[in-house]
Amino acid sequence: MTRDFLADFAEMSAFGATARNGLDRLAGTESHRDVRAWLTELLTEQGFEAQSDAAGNLFWLRRIAGDAPFVLFGSHLDSQPKGGRYDGSYGVLAAAHAAITAAGRLRAAGRTPRYNIAVVDWFNEEGARFKPSMMGSGVFTGKLDLDAVLATTDRLGTSVRDALDAMGARGDFVLGPVAGYAEIHIEQGRSLEEQGITIGVVEATWSAHKFEILVRGDQSHTGSTRMADRKDALLGAAHLVVGVRGICAAFPEEALHTSVGELNVFPNSPVTVAGEVSLLVDLRAPSDATLEQAGVLLRAAIAAAEAASGTEIEIVKVNTWNSGPFLERGIALVERAAEESGRTSTRVLTLAGHDATNVKDIAPTALVFVPSVAGITHNEAEYTRDEDALAGVEVFTRVVEQLALGALDGEPAR
Ligand SMILES: [Zn+2]
Repeated sequence: MTRDFLADFAEMSAFGATARNGLDRLAGTESHRDVRAWLTELLTEQGFEAQSDAAGNLFWLRRIAGDAPFVLFGSHLDSQPKGGRYDGSYGVLAAAHAAITAAGRLRAAGRTPRYNIAVVDWFNEEGARFKPSMMGSGVFTGKLDLDAVLATTDRLGTSVRDALDAMGARGDFVLGPVAGYAEIHIEQGRSLEEQGITIGVVEATWSAHKFEILVRGDQSHTGSTRMADRKDALLGAAHLVVGVRGICAAFPEEALHTSVGELNVFPNSPVTVAGEVSLLVDLRAPSDATLEQAGVLLRAAIAAAEAASGTEIEIVKVNTWNSGPFLERGIALVERAAEESGRTSTRVLTLAGHDATNVKDIAPTALVFVPSVAGITHNEAEYTRDEDALAGVEVFTRVVEQLALGALDGEPAR
């Protein structure tokens, strides 16, 4: 039975839907649990078997090659708060549809695949509820420690372990080494749209360094405490936010992206000078050298913010993802798949991190983009046109078929 992708996508987008057509489906919440159950039902009907690993990654397995290893396809079903419907979710459903179709085609053609096929929803890719982002794929690829991840808490003190147990998502399944991985995702930029091209083939990823920072001041009364006596943590944070933006000025235009996207103020009370502020500084660049230099400037900005506010500012933790190329043979495979589907393609960089960024370091990996209208993302207005969404599924189906046939055999991870 052929399923209608757009109808399934509309149905899937109802889980965690916002009033303005967006998505609010944080990792490990009820709507995340429910959308997984919905997709499990869909895929079980198609002969897939659902299995969770210890980090809350959910795999749907389709055995078409006996005891052979798996090739893996997927993305993430969690979203940002008031995020869009496409980021991650499009890729998981596209992988599911492509896997169903590819398995059917291989059988109909009487071809013996070399590998079994699995679809995955990586846990907590967004990092909106639990830090760091790309958490499930980080554990899967050995970059993050499982116990440390399970002990990580959200803003309300709920741990990953408890969130996973509450949604029945902590299993003991081990997929084993995968023979290949491919992911399809919305571009989240506007280069494809500007060029009028349907398929982006990612050739390299930007690096990201994320600094968890704590500003320590002294909690006091907003009225009665003398100005000279204040150590205002929010003032220190404000200086740092401005300083972080200023780091870009030391580099050529668009060579470095910086932001502070999260700010937690304690006690966040109207008549109390903030005693403590935690924030997350996010630095990204195409080159590791740029990020190293930006890190030095960040430390200078921290010292300046301390001096201007009388606070102490500490870097509590740094999470880094280094830049790197994707496998040339994987790129060529996607380009061929696009051509065979009669679609235009071009090579692009990914500025955002994706689970494929992690997996490419342990298995031959390809990452495919479809256009985002106006590049809008992490926003309820995020949109990919239906014809582009469908073209992506079509191209990705060929990628799935080729990987199952062993098209990336003999390749190192990268
Ligand atoms: Zn994403």
